[in-house]
Amino acid sequence: MLQPIEPVMDPALPPGHPRDLGGPWHSEAACRSDEAGLFFAPSKEPTAARLSREEAAKRVCGRCPVMLECREHALLQPEPYGVWGGMTAAERRVVLARRRRREVELQRPAAQIAAAG
Ligand code: SF4
Repeated sequence: MLQPIEPVMDPALPPGHPRDLGGPWHSEAACRSDEAGLFFAPSKEPTAARLSREEAAKRVCGRCPVMLECREHALLQPEPYGVWGGMTAAERRVVLARRRRREVELQRPAAQIAAAG
């Protein structure tokens, strides 16, 4: 399992973005040259613009060689905002809720599971 990576800020870059983190996979991030600000919402962004921006960010993630490392980092931290590893914050919350449910189920004794049907 991947361990959480402590963020190391590069003062030359804006904060809060995968490209800002110092770690074994960050130097390969496809978003390092993101000039369009695709990965985080500007304030008061209309829904249609957000959806369009997030899809564009996900396309960048889709060609990123470290997408899985980035995604797991964002899930483990967890990162509350932005597109990381090809997932929006809302999508990551769904994955985390599924993981928590699965962990709870794995901890339940088999007899309880059978009784619950
Ligand atoms: S997966 Fe996306 S957010 Fe993560 S490093 Fe790659 S391009 Fe950046």
